[in-house]
Amino acid sequence: MEITKQRFINIHKYALFAGIAFYLYSIFVSKSLQFGIFFVLAVSCFNLLQLRFFQGRPRLAAHTWLVPALVAIFTSSVLMEKGPGASKPLYTAITLIISLIPLLLLATGKAVEKASQRPRLEVVNFRIIVQTLVFTLYLAVSANTWILGTKHELLFWGMFHVFTVAIFPFLFGRVLCGWLCPNATLQDALHKNLTYKRPISRLPRAIEEQSHTTAMYLREGDKSAPFFPFTLLLAWFPMFFTETVFDLTTVPWYPTVFLYGLLICSFLLPWRKLCTHFCWLSSYRGLAGQASLWRIRYNKSNCKDCKVCFAEAACPFYIDIRNQDNEMPATCCLCFSCMEACPAEGCLTFRRAKEEKERIRAIGKTA
Ligand code: SF4
Ligand code: SF4
Ligand code: SF4
Repeated sequence: MEITKQRFINIHKYALFAGIAFYLYSIFVSKSLQFGIFFVLAVSCFNLLQLRFFQGRPRLAAHTWLVPALVAIFTSSVLMEKGPGASKPLYTAITLIISLIPLLLLATGKAVEKASQRPRLEVVNFRIIVQTLVFTLYLAVSANTWILGTKHELLFWGMFHVFTVAIFPFLFGRVLCGWLCPNATLQDALHKNLTYKRPISRLPRAIEEQSHTTAMYLREGDKSAPFFPFTLLLAWFPMFFTETVFDLTTVPWYPTVFLYGLLICSFLLPWRKLCTHFCWLSSYRGLAGQASLWRIRYNKSNCKDCKVCFAEAACPFYIDIRNQDNEMPATCCLCFSCMEACPAEGCLTFRRAKEEKERIRAIGKTA
């Protein structure tokens, strides 16, 4: 079997669909689940995020699928909900089979494309590792919190949000939105690699105009900017209301619906639409992140005007970093993909060149 770029992606798509089918079966039909299944999703994301590295190295990619297989074995004594007729060996076997499908396909596959020779930026490599680890942790903790009903993890995620939402943006901008948020990891993995045209390219106008970022960046005299984001009402308030009033901890369908809702939206909507229009954290982080100490520096004198940096493949938010002078773009999540994509030496960097500082001062901005 030959594994072309398309085939490589398709394997994961089918593995994901198989995971979804078995997962839904386990929840709604047999009322029993096994932990390892969450890791199938995590490993899918890891492979997808690292597609460039695994391209041409299918056997190496196959090894990562040992992770869900091992997790399935080690957690085989833990069923998430013991429904009538739940059988540990059966669900361990189901999880193992799901885990092993892509492993077998990759291990018996033949690469027809060369592995990418271009080295990755270290910071991007580091980001991908962090993203994948946090996503895996999120899946495992969600499984424990909601399905087994332990509350300590809920406290963990509560504190995680306090620090990441309230404090981090002042130091590291929206690094959370590029490095840690599981919703972002899922969207990145799917959008960077499943590159078909999304069926919904634009949301209805009423929603498009109400992006949270627009809502929070009211400029003087900008009467068209909404005062309160309608999508906040539409998407998040009902969710938190339901979660609190009906106490959805220990309700197994809740994380399932949430996760697969995100998954389906990622299949339907353009990259990061969920972030700009439906995430209630987006606007606050965008505002607080304006003072971020960590940011990308653009050195105009080295720029070749090739526009690679804000092409869809590079920037999740389609930001033209060349127009920002020293201002932090409201949606920049410090993923450094633009820096990696930029072909000009010293153009997008962590440090601003001396002549660029002078240029910025000359136009009346703080360098
Ligand atoms: S905007 Fe919201 S969903 Fe998107 S990455 Fe940030 S916190 Fe996550
Ligand atoms: S401007 Fe660069 S670092 Fe910011 S989100 Fe876009 S690609 Fe990532
Ligand atoms: S990729 Fe680099 S050189 Fe090309 S336009 Fe963007 S900043 Fe300039």
